[in-house]
Amino acid sequence: MDEVNNSFEKNKHVIELINMCKSYQVGEMEVPILKSIDLSVKKGEFVAIMGPSGSGKSTLMNMIGCLDRPTCGQVIVMGKDINRLSEVELARLRGFEIGFVFQTFNLVPRLSALQNVELPTYANKKEGIGSARAKELIDLVGLQDRAGYKPTELSGGQQQRVAIARALINDPSLILADEPTGNLDSKTGNEIMNIFTDLHNRGRTIIMITHDPELTGYADRVVHLKDGVISAT
Ligand code: ADP
Ligand code: MG
Repeated sequence: MDEVNNSFEKNKHVIELINMCKSYQVGEMEVPILKSIDLSVKKGEFVAIMGPSGSGKSTLMNMIGCLDRPTCGQVIVMGKDINRLSEVELARLRGFEIGFVFQTFNLVPRLSALQNVELPTYANKKEGIGSARAKELIDLVGLQDRAGYKPTELSGGQQQRVAIARALINDPSLILADEPTGNLDSKTGNEIMNIFTDLHNRGRTIIMITHDPELTGYADRVVHLKDGVISAT
């Protein structure tokens, strides 16, 4: 563990995947999806991941986001080998170090925009703290006049802004976005990308899956996933 932590301090790799593979058990069959993945992402990088539908992009994102464990190889997140972490430690890493944004905004329908942003802090029982920060984040994503609106009263782009604000509530250094503009028209998609660019300029590490080749222009680096392996451009 110390060796891995030292390597994090030295190289500042937020993510290191080493000869990582992932298969799913489907009935009697073991179906390989990711075959041999080596990928390092440095602190502060903005990396785009592209690949055909079904190529395993979301599976890869689930590994990086500690939502699942690899079948073989290592997934090292902020210097920690996730194979050596308990479920509680993984949950802490997910909750405090990583912000997730998905294609479907996954907001709670009965809560207002502001309450959706506060939601991840409810478990902390730090009443009041979430609220002030949630308001700041609602401002940051340009929704100051929509804080009290329910998700159904907001456009798709506005809902994704709420989801981004929610992802930032615990001040994560790493943001994982799985096709964040997939349900948005291109103008709205570009507005969302401008928010990610702003977050990147403020020093956050961003890993984004996208189908849209035009959006890769926002990233420092593009990684292609095909047939279970990755290649860089
Ligand atoms: P992408 O995000 O690139 O479209 P996914 O990672 O969602 O691809 O899926 C890759 C492949 O793995 C697909 O064939 C999908 O059906 C399969 N798959 C994804 N999740 C599971 C699962 N939990 N169990 C079995 N197969 C799965
Ligand atoms: Mg996917």
